[in-house]
Amino acid sequence: MSNKICACCGLSFEKRPQVPNQTYCSLPACQQARRQRWQRDKMQTDPDYRDNQSRNQRAWLDRHPEYWRNYREANPEYVDRNKSRQRSKHDLQQKVDLAKMDVSQGMALRPGLYRIEQISSGDAASSEAWIVEITPLNIDCPCKKDVCKDRT
Ligand SMILES: [Zn+2]
Repeated sequence: MSNKICACCGLSFEKRPQVPNQTYCSLPACQQARRQRWQRDKMQTDPDYRDNQSRNQRAWLDRHPEYWRNYREANPEYVDRNKSRQRSKHDLQQKVDLAKMDVSQGMALRPGLYRIEQISSGDAASSEAWIVEITPLNIDCPCKKDVCKDRT
């Protein structure tokens, strides 16, 4: 019978022969930690398990619709926090709108280096970006529009 150090509480415990590679002692808290770690590992390495878990969680919430209502009632600050988060998102949207307006009102595109980036569904890993140089053309534009004549 060999003794091992528990990975949770750090105390030495007596290894049970029927559990090879035992790293946690039999204290309830340590067994809970062991289960949590197993679940976390499983979530990271097993997509099927992850799928299953989130499906179970959704199904559980479907069966307990009062859960979120009760949670919000018991935690009013959570709702407040959520509201202010939405507000700042709204502010950001207004800033973006202002930026768009600048462009549409003829803000000059200055020569220089620009980065062109594909805005996809927020998946940063799949987005590609190019650095492009923009230089004004000083040629006689065949379109003969005023805006082009001004540049020649
Ligand atoms: Zn322990």
